[in-house]
Amino acid sequence: MSMNCIFCKIIAKQLPTALLYEDEFVVVFKDIHPKARVHLLIVAKEHIQSLAHFSKEKAALAAHMLLLLPSLALAQGLEAGFRTVINTGSGGGQEIDHIHFHLLGDNASSKLSGEK
Ligand code: AMP
Ligand code: ZN
Repeated sequence: MSMNCIFCKIIAKQLPTALLYEDEFVVVFKDIHPKARVHLLIVAKEHIQSLAHFSKEKAALAAHMLLLLPSLALAQGLEAGFRTVINTGSGGGQEIDHIHFHLLGDNASSKLSGEK
């Protein structure tokens, strides 16, 4: 747990947040500023800074996070597909330095608004 990390506080239940899914390794909740009709964050319980800080020892965790995405998307009604975004580092637009995957989608179409 990192004391100044928002996601660690959510995981520790210090910052009340509705969880859509939780297991031993991850929590899933809605992004507070959704960029699509469905915008979830899949967050590792372990405080790892970013994808660039994943090591081979974390391969099982990385796979677990990735393999959760299709079932989470289906549970949100995204039969047509979804988008996964992983921002890494300041150059990649990462705002919260705690590894998370974005799951984005729109039921009406697999294309997100703004993309022609
Ligand atoms: P990133 O730029 O990949 O680090 O994304 C961080 C995301 O976390 C942004 O899309 C924020 O809207 C989202 N976010 C920040 N604080 C919260 C919060 N308390 N609950 C849910 N989502 C949050
Ligand atoms: Zn953290």
